Amino acid sequence: MDCLFCKIIAGEIPSTKVYEDDLCYAFRDIAPQGPTHVLVIPKEHIQSVNAINSSNSSVVAHIFEVIPEIAKAEGIAEEGYRVVSNIGERGQQTVPHLHFHIIGGRDMTWPPG
Ligand code: 5GP
Ligand code: ZN
Repeated sequence: MDCLFCKIIAGEIPSTKVYEDDLCYAFRDIAPQGPTHVLVIPKEHIQSVNAINSSNSSVVAHIFEVIPEIAKAEGIAEEGYRVVSNIGERGQQTVPHLHFHIIGGRDMTWPPG
């Protein structure tokens, strides 16, 4: 499949691994938006939040069990952080493989840009 994140999972494109199990892979964003910026992706290709349904949502639940563990390991769980998923054109999604940004280590602003 011609998908950047599928290639990262396959090891065809190098990445800095933070966490991996049978269902998901987490790695450092190449253009970090904070001192911590990790991307968590399902190993199964799912295009975006728009493509989550009853047949694939268990991996999303799993990812949301993994996210707090990554946050703890990164030392940002207590102070707080942000989880973001951009969807489609107006959401500014640039890689069409579902991913959750974990951004922390600095004060966030609201509303987001
Ligand atoms: P999106 O814009 O789709 O929400 O997020 C895609 C993210 O993937 C961006 O934050 C971007 O910096 C990151 N990214 C794009 N290409 C690569 C890559 O080759 N390696 C890594 N580690 N991150 C990437
Ligand atoms: Zn993919």
